[in-house]
Amino acid sequence: MNNQGARRGTDGSDAQAPNAPKGGGARKASGPRKKQAATKSDATPRKRSGTSGPSASAAPVQAARKRPARPNSDGASAVRIVFLGGLGEIGRNCACIEVDGRILVLDVGIMFPDPDMPGVDLVLPDLTYLRENADRVDGVILTHGHEDHTGGLAYLLRDFPVAVYGSELTLALAKNRVDEAGMNDRVQFVPVRDGERRRIGPCDVEFIPVTHSVPHAFATAFHTPQGIILHSGDFKIDLHPVDGRRTDLARMGALASDPGIRLLLIDSTNAEEPGFTPSESTVGETLRKVFLARPDRRFIVTCFASHIHRVQQVADAAIAGGRKVATLGRSMQKNVALARKLGLLTIPDRSLVDIEDVDQLQPGQVCVISTGSQGEPMSALSKLATGENRFFKLRENDVVVISAHPIPGNEWSVGRVIDSLHRRNVEVIHSGVDSVHVSGHARQGELATLMSVTDPEFLIPVHGEYRHMANQVRVAESMGIVGDRVLLCEDGDAVRIDGKGLHRDGTVPGGYLFVDGSSVGDIGHGVLRDRMVLAEEGVVMAVATVDLKRGEVVGVPQIVTRGWAYDHDTEMLLDEARVQVTRALEQALSSGSSDHENLNRVARKALGRLVGDRTRQRPMIVPVIVTV
Ligand SMILES: [Zn+2]
Ligand SMILES: [Zn+2]
Repeated sequence: MNNQGARRGTDGSDAQAPNAPKGGGARKASGPRKKQAATKSDATPRKRSGTSGPSASAAPVQAARKRPARPNSDGASAVRIVFLGGLGEIGRNCACIEVDGRILVLDVGIMFPDPDMPGVDLVLPDLTYLRENADRVDGVILTHGHEDHTGGLAYLLRDFPVAVYGSELTLALAKNRVDEAGMNDRVQFVPVRDGERRRIGPCDVEFIPVTHSVPHAFATAFHTPQGIILHSGDFKIDLHPVDGRRTDLARMGALASDPGIRLLLIDSTNAEEPGFTPSESTVGETLRKVFLARPDRRFIVTCFASHIHRVQQVADAAIAGGRKVATLGRSMQKNVALARKLGLLTIPDRSLVDIEDVDQLQPGQVCVISTGSQGEPMSALSKLATGENRFFKLRENDVVVISAHPIPGNEWSVGRVIDSLHRRNVEVIHSGVDSVHVSGHARQGELATLMSVTDPEFLIPVHGEYRHMANQVRVAESMGIVGDRVLLCEDGDAVRIDGKGLHRDGTVPGGYLFVDGSSVGDIGHGVLRDRMVLAEEGVVMAVATVDLKRGEVVGVPQIVTRGWAYDHDTEMLLDEARVQVTRALEQALSSGSSDHENLNRVARKALGRLVGDRTRQRPMIVPVIVTV
């Protein structure tokens, strides 16, 4: 398989799936991948017994409460929500909230390609719906700075610039990519503060603090004519966050009691995991112990560059042990500088040292904070592992801490880097060895807590692969949110909420939009299928010249192969192929069917059948027929 390349630039993506099956195939098994194939009837949870499959919670299922529609929602304008991405995969999160015909876009993220998408750089949400309704879009709201929420912004903005709202850090992280596309001056970035409520287009939008693996993430409350629609954003309920900024459950509870929460859209990433995600601050304690136990050795710690709180804890543990801190990797350097400027990261000047000066320090004084936690081939850590890093070389007895969990699909690449590190006699500490990482997403206990606090009338799972969202439904059921009150949606689905309740409201294009170099959307599933065949089986070409007037093949067809297995019989097979292709073409010509398409078809068939019968292989067969 061609999964040599880890997904690149993974700083933004933040999926945690500790129990995900190993290997690149994990993502494929997660339910309907192709949107067209999604079976809507399977998605409604009404008849779900809860007894088959994994139980979300040991708690007894509460009796369903039949809730009357809120009286003030009768007659008011309906609200429509359209899901363009993130419901069926971890990545490319994008939704539209529509009130009175106006649209607010919530996040425009990217997804990193699966192993079955060779050559694809990025996957975007299908932006057709937004493009067709561009005149109705009033703004883009970013919940937080991860790339699965912000990375697609430049692709949207280049078609129609609209104002972008988010926390100061979120906007700064999002600007990196927009800047690369040279569009920062065309776009209005509007920073919003914790707890702020402001009119954006058709409704008031309130930004409620949540804890996550990047600082200053928001849940978003839309105050609509149909009541409050609360989007949890990516969140966990961390009671001891590194910056003391907790998930504002009090505000959500206040909204729940007055005016009540009509619809909760809730992060499903860790809905398969029982219990509670440990606090981010527990990682700091572990790091401190790990550092203290190895006082005379150099440390290299790798984590996501946007995980500012993790960087803070690495720096704190290092400095407490008498070390100095150096950064390695472009995005780490950039984000550390940015976070210090915004006052989100505290590392005293005297404790920072340039990576090129690290060799002048004693081993016990060194802590390098590096990118590359996902095994990306071009990243700082991968280059350290192969000895190709220009700025820093590993030595025997160094300690490398991988303070992150591989995103599903990246396990193989991370494993390979860990092997290379061991070959250098470096000690490697990762989340399988010690608690040097915790997730940024809520587990079942926290999900149930949020459901309890917000007491929503309706619920839709978001942000997850199909199995994550299906498990979210079970958590909801355990909290008594059952029947028509839960809707399991997928990419491209639209829903409507009105005085009568929550309903499906058709579909819009919701498939993958592939980016390959400067090409956006030109690659379809057909191209990817061809690439997979070429990668796995190779290609056999027959090049023949045909004289149409005389009805014969000129000379002998050439057979050209690439990436196709040879053995000692192959030469004989190729000789036979020349004969067979000639015979098939001449038969076609003598029967009078000499159009180009038909000649191609018979040549392909003759060659394909011969190769298939003799080798049991299915390379791509390409006839090239030149007519004279
Ligand atoms: Zn996130
Ligand atoms: Zn996310």
